[in-house]
Amino acid sequence: MPKFYVTTSIPYVNARPHIGHALEFAQADVIARYRKLEGYETYLVTGTDENSLKNVLAAEKLGLDTGSFCERNSAAFRELVDKIGLSYDAFVRTSVDAGHGKVAEFLWKSCSDRGDIYKKKYRGLYCVGCELFYTEDELDNGLCPEHRSKPELVEEENYFFRLSRYQERLAKLLESGEMVITPASRLSEILNFINSGLSDFSISRSVKRSHGWGVPVPGDTSQIMYVWFDALGSYLTGAGFISNSGKFERLWPADMHVIGKGIVRFHAVYWPAMLLSAGIALPKSLFIHGYVTVGGQKMSKSIGNVVDPVLELDKYGADQLRYYLIKEISTFQDGDFSEKALGEVINNELVGNIGNFVNRTLTFIHSRLGGVIEEPRLEEGRLLVLRINGMVDDAKKLMDLGHLNLALLKVLEISSAGNKYFQENEPWKLLKEDDEAAREVLFVCANICRTLGILLNPFMPYASERLLGYLGEKPSGFDGAKKLVKKFEIGSTEILFDKVK
Ligand SMILES: [Zn+2]
Repeated sequence: MPKFYVTTSIPYVNARPHIGHALEFAQADVIARYRKLEGYETYLVTGTDENSLKNVLAAEKLGLDTGSFCERNSAAFRELVDKIGLSYDAFVRTSVDAGHGKVAEFLWKSCSDRGDIYKKKYRGLYCVGCELFYTEDELDNGLCPEHRSKPELVEEENYFFRLSRYQERLAKLLESGEMVITPASRLSEILNFINSGLSDFSISRSVKRSHGWGVPVPGDTSQIMYVWFDALGSYLTGAGFISNSGKFERLWPADMHVIGKGIVRFHAVYWPAMLLSAGIALPKSLFIHGYVTVGGQKMSKSIGNVVDPVLELDKYGADQLRYYLIKEISTFQDGDFSEKALGEVINNELVGNIGNFVNRTLTFIHSRLGGVIEEPRLEEGRLLVLRINGMVDDAKKLMDLGHLNLALLKVLEISSAGNKYFQENEPWKLLKEDDEAAREVLFVCANICRTLGILLNPFMPYASERLLGYLGEKPSGFDGAKKLVKKFEIGSTEILFDKVK
């Protein structure tokens, strides 16, 4: 069985999760569930990034010790991943997982043995929000381009990683597609950054500046590892590196890291360089999504537009929020969230289109045909079946390319075609005139319901399970959605989605 190891990025826990985190979890989960249906042994790792200075500062503000602060906010992320239905196999907490510190140490020692780590005095502009040193010309009017805040001038002795040594190899592995960047439009951006010249980067902080929080540098009690140096290692930790070599050999290299556009540099440049240095195989691809804006603006506490995804999940349901985020937010670009639009999408597409089609088909078969529908002679219905099979192929191609939003749009088209067919053929009238013709319509519609149940499974696992359960069917790979099932026995059913008032 081929394997597919996919990770989400691990968020900082300096604040509660926002709706942008929900988008990434939904995307990663759709990808994982799709691969699983297609016959892969999938493994999904998520977690929380806890060793950063900004967690320390956020905890201090609240008068909490950093450990319990991280514990509390990490639990909020775990609540989100559970409620949104993320099918994760491991949840790595970088400040408490015993194995993780060992992984970070191993990485450090391996890079050091290779001669890629050295100590020097350093002076630089540091944004705590980004946990990143900026050069003057990377700033926007002296401000961090991400946070619009003034970085602080830091002067201290740190350890550096010899990134400059890897410039050519990094450019080559990205250009050759050895590490694939999706969408391809981000590739030139990264190559420009690499080809403009890579500087060595600082990978440690003084114990004083890091407030003693984080993974200690091996053999130097005065220094703590830079948060990214240990955080990236979480992808190894989650796969069993050091702790379970059999598992790690099966899972590594990671097939895909799902990340936001703001952390591309860490994943496309720093991370592969660290792995090259440590002699560990490189991840195969990066899947880079955009940001979720609210009211057209980046979410921020000061604007007061931060959307809590757990509240939305409690109010509307996991399937509903997943559907909305995947379909309405363009997979690789920024997209806007609004609760009003969420309600409209639920009412128009889930209730009005998919739910309506499934409900009218199943209810009709149950109440008018005694719940049993068998394959009749297919006349015109066969043309629709062929057309829908073509749409299934399209959806599969789009999924393979990572265009999750377009694939879901294709699924909605299938439901629209089913609704139109049902409406135009008026089986309630047809049944009185031509029993055989009415049975053809219902047979085709029941099979379209099954097709929808299978294709929707990665996107809306709970509604899909219910729908397939009504049909006595099981989820399968997308090709399986093209099969015509000869006979269905359908009992009483309930509507799939509730209308939002
Ligand atoms: Zn920043």
